[in-house]
Amino acid sequence: MTATGFFTDTSVCIGCKACEVACKQWNQLPADGNFFSGRSYDNTIHLEATTWRHVAFVERSLQLSGQITARPFSWLLMSDVCKHCERAGCLEACPTGAIVRTEFESVYVQPDVCNGCGYCVVCCPFGVINRREDDGRAWKCTLCYDRQKAGGEPACAKACPTDSITFGKLDELREIARKRLELLHSRGVHEAYLYGMTDDDQPGTEGLHAFFLLLDRPEAYNLPPKPTVPTKGVGASWGTMGVAAAGMVAAAVAAVRFVEGGKK
Ligand code: SF4
Ligand code: SF4
Repeated sequence: MTATGFFTDTSVCIGCKACEVACKQWNQLPADGNFFSGRSYDNTIHLEATTWRHVAFVERSLQLSGQITARPFSWLLMSDVCKHCERAGCLEACPTGAIVRTEFESVYVQPDVCNGCGYCVVCCPFGVINRREDDGRAWKCTLCYDRQKAGGEPACAKACPTDSITFGKLDELREIARKRLELLHSRGVHEAYLYGMTDDDQPGTEGLHAFFLLLDRPEAYNLPPKPTVPTKGVGASWGTMGVAAAGMVAAAVAAVRFVEGGKK
């Protein structure tokens, strides 16, 4: 089966939150309460076990290239989601096999196998997956596995009125993203770039199945600049430990020989 994913083009997001609401509605996720953050129009702040799409509102005292405003100011809007990483820290850390890769190559948590240990939570470099307070298990975006199985598209992409969220086959999405980037650059929006599209762009995760076109550095959107899966260095660490252990054994053998030589 072909790998599918999301290309989220933040340059056309209008912050309507239709994606956030559609995700909650389809997946029957509870509301987060009438919380007012005081930070712009953002009332959910980050992705959570009950918020699988989160629309970030970033206000900056800076204009975009070519933008004319009364004072230096611009809005950046971005619908964030689980990245369905090619090298997924959550999946690699799960001791029960509850987190699996589906036939669409997305990362899926099986609720009936998850025991709520939370190892996945600390191994996600994006802070996406979390445990629900009411049942203790880990939850996150499923890339609408149930809808895909039925030949449909994820609820967020279906609801987005501006096509800021495009769902499709990964190779086709990458082509769309490259063309969009070229177009924006040709129109003078030089700050536009693609975040996490391929292994070359983001070696720490080996590329994302949900990647983004951004208009500022990742930190402005609360995204890590160089995310790395914690398990990525494990092979190298075992290698280093092996070399160190071999060195210690060699030193011990040499010491024994030295002592035995002295006794003669
Ligand atoms: S973003 Fe986090 S939760 Fe999503 S697949 Fe990657 S490691 Fe797992
Ligand atoms: S539905 Fe589309 S335009 Fe509206 S907030 Fe979500 S991504 Fe942005």
